[in-house]
Amino acid sequence: MLVTKEIRIHMGHRVPNHKSKCYSPHGHEYKIIVGVDDKVVDFPGASDEGMVIDFGDLKKIMMNIIDSKFDHTTTVYEGDNVYIQSLELINDILGNENKNLIRFNIVPFIPTAENLARYWYKLIEKELLDVGIAIKYVEVWETYTSTARYTKEDDIKWVDPKQQTLFDTPRL
Ligand SMILES: [Zn+2]
Repeated sequence: MLVTKEIRIHMGHRVPNHKSKCYSPHGHEYKIIVGVDDKVVDFPGASDEGMVIDFGDLKKIMMNIIDSKFDHTTTVYEGDNVYIQSLELINDILGNENKNLIRFNIVPFIPTAENLARYWYKLIEKELLDVGIAIKYVEVWETYTSTARYTKEDDIKWVDPKQQTLFDTPRL
């Protein structure tokens, strides 16, 4: 049976090669939905008896992998040197010893909804495998009308050879 859990984060990004307005740094309220498809637990007396996965446990994984690292931050492609240097400069000038003004994560991919869905899928898949539960998809809503859904079948559709190895990199 398929069950889903949803969280929302606020995150900044830009698409460095974009032909239009996504070139400029901006942010979204992202809605992220994880779908888990597995058997219902039928062990009598178990805490999760009658569940595919405890929604609370799934939320904990999503908060740990997504919210704690990406909420209220800016996500920047590692090849986007102009943007990285700009953010570092702002932090150097306006931050103080203890705190950067702008919190940002550098990732090895352009932070589109598609790439973020794939990245988070891989990390959550690994976590769920440890407890023997199968992930079905990660859906990233960038706006109210735009969404990218990554499923296992999408692995074969990823054609960029560089991207093929990016997700073996350690977690942020
Ligand atoms: Zn955007």
